[in-house]
Amino acid sequence: MFDTGRLRPGGRCSSRLPNDKPAVVQNRSSGVYPAKRPCDSQDTIINNQQGILEVPENIQKAIYNYGDDIAKLGPVDHAAQILSSNNIPNFELQLEKWLEEGVVEAFPDGSVCELLGNHNNENEEEQSVELQPLNGEMMYYGKGGMGNIPITMRDYCQSFNGYGDEYTGPSFRLNQDVWVSPSNGVKYIGKEKETNGGYLWELRAGKKSLGKYHRLVISHNGKCADRIMSRTPAKAFHSLLRTKFAPYVPQNGGNQMTLNSIYSLVFAVKSEKSGGGGNGGLSSPIAKALSKLSSSSEGSEGDIYTVNIKNEPNLRLLSCNTLKHHHTKKNPNSESDTEVYTLLSSPTFGKKFKGPQENLPIDLQQKVTIKLLESLEKSLSLEEGSVINSVVDVKVQLWGAAVPMNTWTSHSISKNEVDGFVYDGRGGVGACGDWILDPSVAGAWESGRRLANHLLTAQELDSKLSVGLPDKVPKDDSGKFEPSSGALGSGIGTIPTSPNSAEFVFPKSNDQQQSNRPRGGGGRGGRGDGRGRGRGRGRGSNSRGDKEGSKSSDRSVYSVTL
Ligand SMILES: Cc1cc2nc3c(=O)[nH]c(=O)nc-3n(C[C@H](O)[C@H](O)[C@H](O)COP(=O)(O)OP(=O)(O)OC[C@H]3O[C@@H](n4cnc5c(N)ncnc54)[C@H](O)[C@@H]3O)c2cc1C
Repeated sequence: MFDTGRLRPGGRCSSRLPNDKPAVVQNRSSGVYPAKRPCDSQDTIINNQQGILEVPENIQKAIYNYGDDIAKLGPVDHAAQILSSNNIPNFELQLEKWLEEGVVEAFPDGSVCELLGNHNNENEEEQSVELQPLNGEMMYYGKGGMGNIPITMRDYCQSFNGYGDEYTGPSFRLNQDVWVSPSNGVKYIGKEKETNGGYLWELRAGKKSLGKYHRLVISHNGKCADRIMSRTPAKAFHSLLRTKFAPYVPQNGGNQMTLNSIYSLVFAVKSEKSGGGGNGGLSSPIAKALSKLSSSSEGSEGDIYTVNIKNEPNLRLLSCNTLKHHHTKKNPNSESDTEVYTLLSSPTFGKKFKGPQENLPIDLQQKVTIKLLESLEKSLSLEEGSVINSVVDVKVQLWGAAVPMNTWTSHSISKNEVDGFVYDGRGGVGACGDWILDPSVAGAWESGRRLANHLLTAQELDSKLSVGLPDKVPKDDSGKFEPSSGALGSGIGTIPTSPNSAEFVFPKSNDQQQSNRPRGGGGRGGRGDGRGRGRGRGRGSNSRGDKEGSKSSDRSVYSVTL
């Protein structure tokens, strides 16, 4: 297995860990230096579309600090935040096992909430922002960071290497920091197979050969996966990997894989040492606001770990790494204590401010940081500048190929269940991942499991059965891209949501902005939906665990707040 991840596996389900060293690149003239660092000139005033944006000194400093202080405080989840089974029975069992083994922790009751309300209504005397706990479905996070989940999976696979004295079979090797080249990284050599021991594929990273293989699995998506397969004879297979980028899809799902883009802003704020009394004993303006909202909300008196933001169009989620991962609050470079949050943007914000994700220009980082923090202040009804002025460190990251807005849905194996993976039996190449089953960690995990199962069965039966290819006649029998209700609703994948959110209305044409029709007053959910905490199923998400799940994706109205 070859993975570009520099330090460890994980992709979009990864974490930054304390003492992670920044990437370095070799410079011919001056040797080694940190990669992707912004240049040294510090602009204080930058242009934005609406005019001139002043950048406060602490934000300038924080951006040039590049998240170095945050990195010392504890693990930080910078993409995936919440694990749930999404009605996939195998993944539910896996979650229970991981819980027993201490790989994941369950979010405490009432600690995941939705932030609802209308902070823009100036006629209202008191702005009506409200926190509503999300109960009813078990939610988890990786203990010590979401990235511990893929690490546990790697270790499990490695534990089979050399299993038993008589073992002569292949072993599992995971090679980190290897970028299989998009231009010439994958070559089909199947035509030579008589003389080649049955090898069908050769892989390369730059000029270096990575070996010859009987089977190939593409377990990523985006432009890179598209290019990697573009020069091979697996044409039908490759046609599914073509990608476009947009924050939504048309109602029929569109005819191409569509990924959104999301900004992740990890930031540290000052916490008053003697403040106390805020969320989880923390006392930044954010912690105090959450604590106040929580005490006036039914059923969320405890600490608030994660908030799905549904009252501010630029934002989707706020998560407190300090509480989840028990950070040391002491910032070595500061007199005050520190709290670390991850703030995820909406896909429309990600599209509007898209930049080169490997090396975001400094002025774009500043603009994005300020706009996201201003939006957070608004959504929590906080005084202007209260969060921005307490920031001591930030790390801005753009997930350019973030979350699939549609999923490839085929029924080659059974009419009642979606396949959940793709396999070209003639070429011996398969694909798995969240874009084929469900845009979530659960979906990606189950897709990989189903493909592995198919490979084993096909090997046993000596079968070349293809699955999910779009080349069937009549065309109706082949798969299609279906809109993903979970991803359109939350923007960040299929995660639990309340039934009281505003309704998503598909845009009439691709050029139009998506719109929402608030239900129950400005997107505010009614309280007391009466659902108890437990392993409730069937909440109508776009789960692909059973027949129901695939039916639900036919609905034309999805839950979303924009
Ligand atoms: C901001 C954000 C928030 C999210 N929040 C949630 C959430 O709360 N809950 C949830 O369930 N899901 C969430 N998701 C979605 C979830 O993270 C993904 O659905 C899931 O992790 C996808 O897993 P995957 O294995 O399909 O792909 P990936 O995680 O993308 O893995 C692909 C791997 O391929 C590697 N790779 C790519 N190109 C190459 C190459 N050329 N050579 C070698 N290796 C390569 C990458 O380094 C990566 O490790 C979120 C996603 C984002 C972006």
